[in-house]
Amino acid sequence: MDILKSLGNQHPAEKHYRALMKHCKVHLEEMDRTLPAPAEDFSTMLKERGISRRSFLKWTSMMTAALMLPPMFKPLVAQAAEQFNRLPVVWLHFAECTGCSEALLRSSYPNVDDILLDTISLEYHETLMAAAGYQAEACLEKALHDFPGQFVCVIEGAIPLAMDGKYLTLGPKGKTGLELAKEVTSKAALNICIGSCSAFGNVPAADPNPTGCVGVGKALGISTVNIAGCPPNPTNFVGTVLHYLMFGGLPAVDGLGRPIWAYGKRIHDYCERRPHYDAAEFVEEWGDAGQKKGWCLYKVGCKGPYTFANCSRVRFNDAISWPIMAGHGCMGCTEPAFWDTMKPLEKPIHEDTIGGGEKTVDTIGAALVGATVAGIAIHAGLTSSVHRDDK
Ligand code: SF4
Ligand code: SF4
Repeated sequence: MDILKSLGNQHPAEKHYRALMKHCKVHLEEMDRTLPAPAEDFSTMLKERGISRRSFLKWTSMMTAALMLPPMFKPLVAQAAEQFNRLPVVWLHFAECTGCSEALLRSSYPNVDDILLDTISLEYHETLMAAAGYQAEACLEKALHDFPGQFVCVIEGAIPLAMDGKYLTLGPKGKTGLELAKEVTSKAALNICIGSCSAFGNVPAADPNPTGCVGVGKALGISTVNIAGCPPNPTNFVGTVLHYLMFGGLPAVDGLGRPIWAYGKRIHDYCERRPHYDAAEFVEEWGDAGQKKGWCLYKVGCKGPYTFANCSRVRFNDAISWPIMAGHGCMGCTEPAFWDTMKPLEKPIHEDTIGGGEKTVDTIGAALVGATVAGIAIHAGLTSSVHRDDK
């Protein structure tokens, strides 16, 4: 209240952002006081890895916009980036392929996201750490002891519940994934599910799911922030951690725990092939003339109309490209149970599953010549009903 009083007669939006900035500055100062000292100076780190000040400022602008913050927040995003490698992280692996770690921690050439991920303060990461067995167990115990309520727990992979969780045991004491997840998440400041397996179960939970895999939130009955994707975009993980450093809490999330700034819009609505969809210009089969002309991939299986993610805006590999730009349809990997609900992956979803998808597109194709707007309205209605069913 005091902050708001001191702001006088500003426009409500400006007043809101000024108050938010004050809160952010206070939180960043607190983090600066309480986080462990950096292992490496941030500016030296950027310099050594060939990132100029100009590139860093460009990245700051991009990240501020991606987080849906006005430009006045750019210096604070930069300040939060400087604290990134001071935040202790415990990274757990359950039922998964380690593809999320691979996608996040490897890069052919680094941008700022990659450098932040490369230098993240990993106190425990089963795939990357040199320690094994009792030594690794000791690293985990030390991290939980040294940073109680301060570390971020990142979870990769689903949790098997069948046979009391015994399909997955870890470490020298043979703890089940469920036991380990309960122990670590209860002591963390923030629990982030990285990838669609930990968020929703997904591939390890695919039908018939003999191991009884589920997502972490469901297995433990806790709220997690879900950076969905198979694998997820590094920007969405980095942005969520920056948000935590800046504001001390989770970003606004949708009904599936996904940050709205990253997953609030459909792939289809920001796809560069969308004008072809609207003009009923579809690739009918791989290698046809439509494919060569870059037409819409719906009829060869694109699930962009049912998928909420920012791939088309943020892209991958330093924003060079993304799947649809590279010529393949979206597989809907940020949606729950995509492996089952989005199949067949190279054809439109059968009308029994979604209530008329394939037929709708054909109908739209024919009808669009004279009734573009009506066709889009039918399709939009279809998409929202698919989403309600997913939940
Ligand atoms: S169906 Fe796929 S390729 Fe076509 S416009 Fe939508 S997202 Fe793009
Ligand atoms: S385009 Fe679709 S399948 Fe590809 S990463 Fe994005 S959401 Fe996943």
